[in-house]
Amino acid sequence: MELTANAKINLTLDILRKREDGYHDLQMVMQSVTLADCITVTPAKGPQGDAVADLRFLPTGNRNLAQVAAAAFRAAAGLGGEVDVSIRKRVPVCAGLAGGSADAAAVLRAMNALTGAGLSPARLADIGAQVGSDVPFCVLGGTALAEGRGELLTPLPPLPPCQIVVCKPPFSISTPPLFGRVNVRKIVRRPDTAGVLDALGVGDLPGVARRMYNVFEDVLDRRRAADIAAVKAVLIDCGALGASMSGSGPSVFGLFDREDAAQAAVLRLRDSFRDVFLCAPAGPKV
Ligand code: ATP
Repeated sequence: MELTANAKINLTLDILRKREDGYHDLQMVMQSVTLADCITVTPAKGPQGDAVADLRFLPTGNRNLAQVAAAAFRAAAGLGGEVDVSIRKRVPVCAGLAGGSADAAAVLRAMNALTGAGLSPARLADIGAQVGSDVPFCVLGGTALAEGRGELLTPLPPLPPCQIVVCKPPFSISTPPLFGRVNVRKIVRRPDTAGVLDALGVGDLPGVARRMYNVFEDVLDRRRAADIAAVKAVLIDCGALGASMSGSGPSVFGLFDREDAAQAAVLRLRDSFRDVFLCAPAGPKV
């Protein structure tokens, strides 16, 4: 079975409070994009399933999130055999684009179909929450408000058609230290989440774009903050309606209503960066 594992971007990312259990309550408007990995799931050749990607540095076997998802499905559904998963990796890794979570979600969908288990999307998303906090969104896809750790999902009206330019600068940002640097009471700048929801409700793309923000941008160290700001500046200079960092970075994206402007941004960014993608919003998986 072949599946598409779509990446996501955060149109907004806000941190509401630190919880007693040490996690943070988040509020994020998430959007699936057409930038995607290609996943093939087949019955395992050996006694144990394997997972192999066309990127040598990714973990294989049961350390790959695709196999973690397969095991979670078998445990929850009580059926399904071992599977081999082959991954054509197109989504940059450790990029804030949920590439690994997207692969895991695709495997959950594949196992559900191959075994005929017929689990509801909500049940599959519940199983996905055990694998990673972005997996439930990746199971459902489309446009959604994600709250809690990211597992409480409310589907939203779709982002109006647009071009999305995604650029991943060549460094990675570790997520736990970023959370460590956030002092919820001292967050000065937040996304206008309510305004984004209203703008989505009336199909107002510029209204969404100008209200986007990611609170992690304010806790980056000075050098990384400058790198992210430079990519945003190129996107805006080329005509993006708005630009923001996705997840815990370092990917930055811009929303465009003109394809020529988006193409121009891609060309300019490719002068300095290898990982630059032109994509579009992707609809829900279910
Ligand atoms: P998020 O946006 O959900 O925080 P991310 O885009 O920052 O995720 P991923 O690309 O999902 O990060 O990868 C995170 C880690 O998971 C990496 O250290 C990678 O080695 C590991 N990993 C395990 N399986 C996979 C997979 N199938 N694809 C990508 N990464 C994987």
